[in-house]
Amino acid sequence: MFQLIKETKEAVFLNPMEDFKEKRVLIERRTDPLTQQIGWILPHGFRLKAPKDLEQAIAQSLKNPCPFCPDMVERRTPKFLSTIAENGRITYGEVVVVPNLFPYQPHSAVARLTIRHFVPMAEFTEQILLDGLTASFAYIQRLRGLDPGLRYGSINWNYMPPSGGGLIHPHLQPVASHRPTQFMDLMATCSAAYLRSSGQVFWERYVHEEEKTGERFIGRFGDVSFLAPFAPRNMTGEIVVVFERQESILDHTETYFESFSQGLCCILRGLSALHFTSLNMALFIYFQPQQGLWTTARIMPRSVFPPLDTGDVNYYEKLHGEVFCMISPEDMCSYLRPYF
Ligand SMILES: [Zn+2]
Repeated sequence: MFQLIKETKEAVFLNPMEDFKEKRVLIERRTDPLTQQIGWILPHGFRLKAPKDLEQAIAQSLKNPCPFCPDMVERRTPKFLSTIAENGRITYGEVVVVPNLFPYQPHSAVARLTIRHFVPMAEFTEQILLDGLTASFAYIQRLRGLDPGLRYGSINWNYMPPSGGGLIHPHLQPVASHRPTQFMDLMATCSAAYLRSSGQVFWERYVHEEEKTGERFIGRFGDVSFLAPFAPRNMTGEIVVVFERQESILDHTETYFESFSQGLCCILRGLSALHFTSLNMALFIYFQPQQGLWTTARIMPRSVFPPLDTGDVNYYEKLHGEVFCMISPEDMCSYLRPYF
């Protein structure tokens, strides 16, 4: 059954800021309606007060030649075997797809998005994003033609260092594999189980219910919806993207990518206005339709916190596998909706 379960807990302490008066803080424990993963919502109404100053990081990144800057790509990036790309690299507009110099899968590549070394989050255009997705997907498609055993893929993004990005120059990371990642497996397994037990496609019900209440439904372009998940898995919130009725990424890919790029642009502008300067993104690709599962993507803003550049991943997430989120999904939704 589709259920949004939350329990409210209370923490009590004597507050030094108010002459040690008793203070009660309400905390919510929420359960993801599909995966049953737990997310905690803290009520502090957290907002970043200013964007992180990136000038020093950008200057530092230019001390050594950047492999993705125009005059360097040819000399400093690896090439594919000719079976994958005749000229060694896959190019599309300004996008150049090359093998990952530090592979973490048999098939992991990097897609340099644009000739600009640094693109502020709010300045990404639909065209840059669309070209990046299209070129990354072309790489994955070529691999499918060469290795029929490949079943899974993803197009990922670490934008700027707090998200794990090792280069300032914007780039996506397409991957193809024989086995799913644990999260992709969890989504497929839970979606199939939901279909078996309820006779309904979870994602259809989910988008319908959330659009009806509106509290967490951010917006839609074409058949691609953007929502703030009920139980986020990131300290500063999460966005889930649902490619409605799309059981396989291989159908109408171009139209879906156009809508996705449009919405992604809006999300980036909204997150930038919230002073975020970094994010992770993943688009999950199953080559075979999975029972009860539609194509989805996830976006998580990432940050370090002043004054000490404190990280946004702590023992709770790293070692216990649960996350406390300081921006409620309802707040995240109301912040981002005006950008749609
Ligand atoms: Zn560069």
